[in-house]
Amino acid sequence: MKTDTTTIDIQKASKSKIENVDFNNLVFGQVFTDHMMVCDYKNGEWQTPQIKPYGPLQLDPSAKVFHYGQAVFEGMKAFKDEKDQVWLFRPEKNFERINKSSERLAIPEFPKEYFFTGMEELLKLEKDWIKKGFGNSLYIRPFVIATEAGVSAAPSKEYKFMIICSPAQAYYSGEVRVQFSEKYSRAADGGVGFAKAAGNYAAQFYPTNLAKEEGFQQIVWTDASTHEYLEEAGTMNIFFRVGDKLITAPTNDRILNGVTRDSVIALAKEYNIELEVRRVTVKEIVEAAEAGELKEMFGSGTATVINPILGFGYKGEKYELPNMEDTYARFFKDKLTKIQYNQAEDKFGWRYQIK
Ligand SMILES: *Cc1c(COP(=O)(O)O)cnc(C)c1O
Repeated sequence: MKTDTTTIDIQKASKSKIENVDFNNLVFGQVFTDHMMVCDYKNGEWQTPQIKPYGPLQLDPSAKVFHYGQAVFEGMKAFKDEKDQVWLFRPEKNFERINKSSERLAIPEFPKEYFFTGMEELLKLEKDWIKKGFGNSLYIRPFVIATEAGVSAAPSKEYKFMIICSPAQAYYSGEVRVQFSEKYSRAADGGVGFAKAAGNYAAQFYPTNLAKEEGFQQIVWTDASTHEYLEEAGTMNIFFRVGDKLITAPTNDRILNGVTRDSVIALAKEYNIELEVRRVTVKEIVEAAEAGELKEMFGSGTATVINPILGFGYKGEKYELPNMEDTYARFFKDKLTKIQYNQAEDKFGWRYQIK
């Protein structure tokens, strides 16, 4: 996309913080780059986007985001190849999704040229923060918050769209065992589960803490009405491998339409891996595990790409998955990351260069 810098106000940081950062010991999402993008919505329109030094915001304590959680976000990554070229992975998807999320939360749509121009200008300023080498990336967090002062329960008339960036190393989440939820739900029919709404995450913390006390790192959310169908793993989409067949749930208004999920599905088709996109029952997965047919489970999401799951718990029973060499999880992670780092042909046109 052609960028038109005249539409953006850029105020550079007087001094970079980069020398103080230990890029070999990054904790995910703790360190932020020198600049941020901010675009205010007021008087019925988005104002000129600004890039300015990263720093705290000043908001009225009655700002609606604090009281009603009117907020949405995205998560994406920038990668640097061996020639110092910077790439995004399917950013159009994130752009479309933030506006879909916004629509559901009654937040005004954000203009495409502001999203792309703002992100590109910001990434150009921060390119030294994107390190070469497999696993290194810059995590990009676009988000929108309702900033209008006043506690009346109505959609805000003012918003801030922002982008902040955090350097990241390969995300190793440790060994992951999950608990199939028998009681709690992440999302309901007609609700906001398909949106990246901030409050979806707030509601997950408590049940996840309970699962942690029982020795599981994440919950696999089941459908809210029957708890018979497996839907998502924590904050990731989930895939099952039964025999050599890959199975994942179709997206609906309770399941987030992950970019990584969509990419895994495309790769499975490309490589002739038998794939079923259909509702998955707790019963069939427990039975497959008991019969030794359940070979793999893995989560998919931008932060970890593919996250293997080693076992699960259900109704007090614990099930371990086999320890295999040739996993689909490894296969997809390898294929996806090679495309992301410009080390493999990009058949699907997924890479987007920052120039
Ligand atoms: C963000 C998210 C995902 C993963 O989406 P990606 O686009 O692959 O990063 C999956 N589930 C939930 C609930 C999410 O919020």
